Amino acid sequence: MKIGNKLIFSFLLVTLLPTILLAFLTTALISGSKKEDAQETLNHNLKAAWMQYYARAYQMQYGMLQASAEGFIKKAIADRDKQLLRGQMKAWKRHRPYVDIWDVVDSNAMTIASLNSDRSGVHLSFNGLVEKSIEKKASFISTEIVPYDVLRLEGIAEKAKVSTYDKKDGSAVKPELIEGMVQLVVTPVLDGKNSVIGAIITGDIINNDPSVPDALADSIPGSLVTIAMGDTQISTNVMDGNGKKTIGQSIPKSVLDEIGTKRGFRGETSIAGRYYIAAFDPILNNDGKVIGSLFVGIPREGFLELKYKNIKAVATIALVGLFIATGVASFITYMITRPIKALTKKAQLVSTGNLNIRTGVPGAGKDELADLARTFDIMVKNLRENEDRIRVGQDKLRQQKNLIESIINSLPYCIYVIERNLGIVVWNRHASQACPVCKCSAGENCYSINFMAHLSSGEWKYKLEKVILGVFETGEARQLEQKVTLPDGRTVILRTSIFPIRSGNGGQADYVVWMAEDVTKDKEIEAGIISSEKLAAIGQLAAGIAHEVNNPLGGILNCLYNFKNKKLTDERKYEYLDFMEEGIKRVQNIVRQLLDFSQQHEPELTLTDINGMIEGIIPLFIHSIKDKDIRLVRNLGQGLPSILVDRHQIEQILVNLILNAVQALGDEGLIEVSTRFEGKWYCIIVSDNGCGIPPENLSKIFDPFFTTKGVGMGTGLGLSVSRGIIERHRGKIDVESKVGAGTVFKVSLPIVTSKENSWQGLQGYL
Ligand code: ADP
Repeated sequence: MKIGNKLIFSFLLVTLLPTILLAFLTTALISGSKKEDAQETLNHNLKAAWMQYYARAYQMQYGMLQASAEGFIKKAIADRDKQLLRGQMKAWKRHRPYVDIWDVVDSNAMTIASLNSDRSGVHLSFNGLVEKSIEKKASFISTEIVPYDVLRLEGIAEKAKVSTYDKKDGSAVKPELIEGMVQLVVTPVLDGKNSVIGAIITGDIINNDPSVPDALADSIPGSLVTIAMGDTQISTNVMDGNGKKTIGQSIPKSVLDEIGTKRGFRGETSIAGRYYIAAFDPILNNDGKVIGSLFVGIPREGFLELKYKNIKAVATIALVGLFIATGVASFITYMITRPIKALTKKAQLVSTGNLNIRTGVPGAGKDELADLARTFDIMVKNLRENEDRIRVGQDKLRQQKNLIESIINSLPYCIYVIERNLGIVVWNRHASQACPVCKCSAGENCYSINFMAHLSSGEWKYKLEKVILGVFETGEARQLEQKVTLPDGRTVILRTSIFPIRSGNGGQADYVVWMAEDVTKDKEIEAGIISSEKLAAIGQLAAGIAHEVNNPLGGILNCLYNFKNKKLTDERKYEYLDFMEEGIKRVQNIVRQLLDFSQQHEPELTLTDINGMIEGIIPLFIHSIKDKDIRLVRNLGQGLPSILVDRHQIEQILVNLILNAVQALGDEGLIEVSTRFEGKWYCIIVSDNGCGIPPENLSKIFDPFFTTKGVGMGTGLGLSVSRGIIERHRGKIDVESKVGAGTVFKVSLPIVTSKENSWQGLQGYL
């Protein structure tokens, strides 16, 4: 729902809800009070109706009380003078024409004379009313149902006739009612001794008698009155739809039931198809039995009309209110939503990317919408600035991305990023163009191809797969060097690094990066360097060794010369021969050692007794230091186990370190070669108290070709090659040195005693 509609709806709700509520309340109150008024009027009318109902009875009673006191009446009763009494009754009738029954009875309730017939000697009881009056010596008024026979005797049967109606369709079904409801007054006549000698009975039949309703209508215009005998109306001024009095029509059973309880009925009911607000009182006979009812009513239409008039007035007021409220609400809504709509249009423009928008709301505006507009302007300005920044950032990012991509693509390595199911996610150009073991060709889409299937076949793949899965599980980086036979039959050495990429802080890797390079050539070069460095060491050793070889050779030559030129005794000859043999053995020994060292070997790990190896190397230097004041001492740890190393390469490192130490000492000093355990490391320490290394050179001594020695004295490759060898053994080399005090080199090698428990890093080397 649009905000404008919401506002209008809210306004209307706020204004109309109370109005409608008020209207309802007013209507309810008015109709309530009207109902009360109507009920009160009815009660009042009912009282008046009862007064009218009994008016004639009282008149009859009054007249007969006077008559009963007349002496001639008493006498006529005592004498049973029928003629006189009838004559008298006719005279009375002339004054009270409404009286329908007129009888004089004796003290036994036997008729003496009747107005309407010549009969006598008939017992008259009228439901015991006559006997009661005689017995109580008092005048009584009562309404009684008089049967047809009696009515006929009294000559008023015709007067009592009332047409009744069918209860179902309302049509007249029976032409007459055979009973009559009569208001009776029985007045006793007493003699001089106060004894009852008879009684005068007067009666006014109510059937078809309009006097009560008419009299009430006269005194209270518009009042409706009905007198019912049982459930049939016998006297009324109520009209039906055809303008006929509703005499003979029934009153509803529900109302009748209420009347039967003697409480009467107050409420709404329908009579002859019309609705009334009604009040019914029961009419009781002498026995206290309900024989009929007196009804007063107000047509409901009149009351409803009044009620509807009120509702109409209230509804009109509400409608006018609604109209005005709608107008006012629409105007206010328009005033509120106009700037919002304008702002919405601007916001839509902003959403399409146009950030050069201004709301144009004057800065002086003080309401919330002006605030909103200003905030909007600030927001758009900030958006613009942010967009500029983002654009610049994006450009930078793009550049960086391109740069990184080109770096990755220019790297001379095959790089693949692999997900856990070994599907390829990212690869670089080298991988698709120059990788010797990848099947992917240039420009091919390798995305989600299984990495292992992507590699050229061979045993090496299974080991690689194991390592990659291991990196996924452990999240620890690994390196491998593997000999791989390519499909064209060439064998290459592949160095691969496998790095984990983890989204969490540790544990399993989500991706791994596989980086591979063909190091076959490097290996060859490295092997060349190692061997040239070895040759250099041999050269340097050779100077001392040559001297050592020369000495015995000189001695041997001298012996030979003496053999040749001198006559020697046999004893002397044997002496010379022994001397020559010893000399030749020494030379042979030296040459063998040199040969041992100089031999080229394929790198291979073997269990090596390092201490034994050191013992074997030391003699090579004896000759170099013999003429100098240099002591070469050993301090080898006891009980150290053999470890898995490339014997010849470690030997080469030691020769190099000792040679450097000898050169650092000059003519005198001390060199100590020691071995020991340090945690998981097997340490070989070569220390000297020579010239030391200046601090500025300490960071350079492991650089290839760094040397402080003169031409022909040093290649500058010794320490560089040594470090390479040590790192491939997953070891480390440390140096501590002080100028003038000496230098300590410490080689630490991992203690690996078998291929099974081999240092993980060594596996690629094995
Ligand atoms: P080279 O011995 O051929 O010069 P190296 O790589 O073995 O090459 O050594 C590099 C340099 O390190 C040497 O030139 C020397 O300056 C220094 N150096 C090596 N060992 C020692 C040592 N024990 N005492 C002093 N300097 C040393």
